Amino acid sequence: MSEGSTVLPTGIPGPVPSPDGLDAPYWEATRRHELVAQRCRACGGWQWYAEWICHRCHSFDLGFEPVPGPAILFSWERAHHPVHPALRDAGPYVVVLVEFPEADGIRMLGNLAGDPMQAVEIGARVEPVFEDHDEGAIPFTLVQWRRG
Ligand SMILES: [Zn+2]
Repeated sequence: MSEGSTVLPTGIPGPVPSPDGLDAPYWEATRRHELVAQRCRACGGWQWYAEWICHRCHSFDLGFEPVPGPAILFSWERAHHPVHPALRDAGPYVVVLVEFPEADGIRMLGNLAGDPMQAVEIGARVEPVFEDHDEGAIPFTLVQWRRG
């Protein structure tokens, strides 16, 4: 996204990768504008958020791979009340839960970019929007969503 059009308002604390490095491959991929999730090398199952062990087969042999589409809007909410002082003038905004049916139905949270009053339809295809934040000491990239 271009500067000034980010969904994340100034003043909201940025995400912090896990200190144990578990989700570092995800954050590194977002910097390259790639969406990855954890996949078990033993059974092929997908999972999100990242964990040290496979939920299905209990293997510790996990990696990160690009998440296959489509991405489907599973649920959403249009938030009108600020939950943080920095959001006082940022509302309303749309929070979405996005599902990947080709990746074992893993789901990811984010915001729906664009007009906060746009029509939102469960089941609609969405695509990731990589929102770069280079302004802080530790640059990061958020994954937001837009209608596909
Ligand atoms: Zn497994």
